[in-house]
Amino acid sequence: MSHTDPARTEQIRANIEAARSRIAAACAAADRDPAEVSLVAVTKTHPASDVRVLSSLGVSNVGENRDQEAAPKAAATADLDLTWHFVGQLQTNKARSVASYADVVHSVDRVKLARALGDRAADAGRRLTCLVQVDLDEEARAGVLGPRGGVDPADALGIAERIDEHEALELGGVMAVAPLGGDPDAAFARLYQVATRIRDRYSRATMISAGMSGDLEAAIGRGATHLRLGAALLGARGTNVG
Ligand SMILES: *Cc1c(COP(=O)(O)O)cnc(C)c1O
Repeated sequence: MSHTDPARTEQIRANIEAARSRIAAACAAADRDPAEVSLVAVTKTHPASDVRVLSSLGVSNVGENRDQEAAPKAAATADLDLTWHFVGQLQTNKARSVASYADVVHSVDRVKLARALGDRAADAGRRLTCLVQVDLDEEARAGVLGPRGGVDPADALGIAERIDEHEALELGGVMAVAPLGGDPDAAFARLYQVATRIRDRYSRATMISAGMSGDLEAAIGRGATHLRLGAALLGARGTNVG
């Protein structure tokens, strides 16, 4: 199981280096310290062996967007010292499973989901850091496109309150995905406003999870503290995109 292909390790090492130099350049342009920006490797569709490679190269924050894939991968790498991030849309009936392995849930967009995660984490004797997922896509909210998750920016503080008041949950901050085909800079600027409103009330809620392989520069320019990178680190996903 721990057998890994040296060529794959070299490829991932080169990808990490390239991503880190993009991050460094974007931080220089935004007058930010790269130490403020954490990298979460999104490993969906890639095997547990890639998680081992990432870990061996010093990447310990890993993320998945589907419980069916995340749960077995987390189990297969339980011997490693990893922080698991759940970044995808989440049904309440998966809360028990996710609360058993995840450390950070980026996609909390309903009061009911916050309560389910908190109750299931408490059952398991665990604590979860939760981010409020904000929907930055006005057209999707109007029902033009399918639902992609996230709460209306106006309702974000209400969800934050419910996370903060649960004893098994820690309010970490906010998360968003830039709207498809939209301007990521404008979207991440809106997210920063929501993040500021929440942080004014809850000073420890400093996380801004924004930026993927295609738009990390815009996210860093708008204050992202956590980038969620899949393709940039592990290569293109096949047709089996989650
Ligand atoms: C897949 C995924 C990512 C990573 O996307 P890339 O474009 O491969 O970097 C980030 N966030 C979420 C929510 C995802 O589902």
